[in-house]
Amino acid sequence: MTDITKATDAIYFAPLLPWQHELWTQLTQRVSVSSGQLPHALLAAGMSGMGKRAFVWRLVAWLLCYEKHKHPLGACGQCESCQWLRSGTHPSLQVLPLISLPVSAEHNQQESKPKSTKSAKAMSASALKIKVDDIRALQPFIYQGGQGMRICILDHAEQMTIAAANALLKTLEEPQSQVHLILISDMPAKLLPTIKSRVQQLPLQTIDHKLAFDYVKEALGGTINREAVTDDAIEQLLQLANGAPLAAIMLAQAPWYHKRALWITVWQALRAGKRSSTAASDYWQSQLSITEFIRLSELMLLDMRRISLGLESMQQDIDLSVTLAKYQPLDNALNQFALSLQESKVALQQNVQEKFAYDKLMQELAQL
Ligand SMILES: [Zn+2]
Repeated sequence: MTDITKATDAIYFAPLLPWQHELWTQLTQRVSVSSGQLPHALLAAGMSGMGKRAFVWRLVAWLLCYEKHKHPLGACGQCESCQWLRSGTHPSLQVLPLISLPVSAEHNQQESKPKSTKSAKAMSASALKIKVDDIRALQPFIYQGGQGMRICILDHAEQMTIAAANALLKTLEEPQSQVHLILISDMPAKLLPTIKSRVQQLPLQTIDHKLAFDYVKEALGGTINREAVTDDAIEQLLQLANGAPLAAIMLAQAPWYHKRALWITVWQALRAGKRSSTAASDYWQSQLSITEFIRLSELMLLDMRRISLGLESMQQDIDLSVTLAKYQPLDNALNQFALSLQESKVALQQNVQEKFAYDKLMQELAQL
């Protein structure tokens, strides 16, 4: 099995996520039992980490599968259609932006490796944009007629330009039989209301807490970074991830998440003048990338604001509340540090050196 085949298998033929069983059954029965149709246009929306894309790719594979009536739980993986998906060349599937196509994403990653960070970043930002020409280029596929189902996926649909959204509206107003459009968006609030009113939203946002908890627990296999994971730790991860199980798992596996207690220690040493900002900068550079450090600091700031409002700390496994009981930074100082974090993100997009950004942040942290 090649790497590409493995990557596509994990996407099209992955096990169904436990909190999606009900929706899966509803949708697939509509197609098979009543030999009815799915709505012409669907929207999978909501914050990332809830498994929207996992659901959509699985559904795409099943809808296109020639043996789907014998395999109600997921595409057969063997028929000609499933083989086409494996090779990334399905004639009845169009994906925008191209970078979202499972195979092409992998190719792109390999191709971008030798390029500089700046051009890779610029490429990924522009690669997500869906332009009017992209929508126009879909038209022959949508209006070609003929037998068999055809599917268009529009991932990161909120990234459509206004012209692209208007071009798409026309398509949504003229449903073609056997053609399904599936929009995916992490930020549905940014979608045009006229688009939203013409698509049927899939109920993917609510996840039963116990199912989420059990899934995260099993996925982490009882340990995070070889440390035993307690039920409290899982509850905290889920709370920090706003209940999104896949996001909670990613959080548990992120190196920065395990440096939260260290963040407090270094901050206190900086404040007390026991460590210079240059030394702190050198230290953090050896521990985390600046992007990771910014995410870590954002979480700490968020929790510090909660505590200053009299709310309970979201992190019960570190001593943030104890530290703040002894010393509470002023709101102004918190705002200033939040602003510096934002400025650092912008500077990094403009290719400022990590060391420079780290040095500046440590000077600011010492003032907090
Ligand atoms: Zn099949």
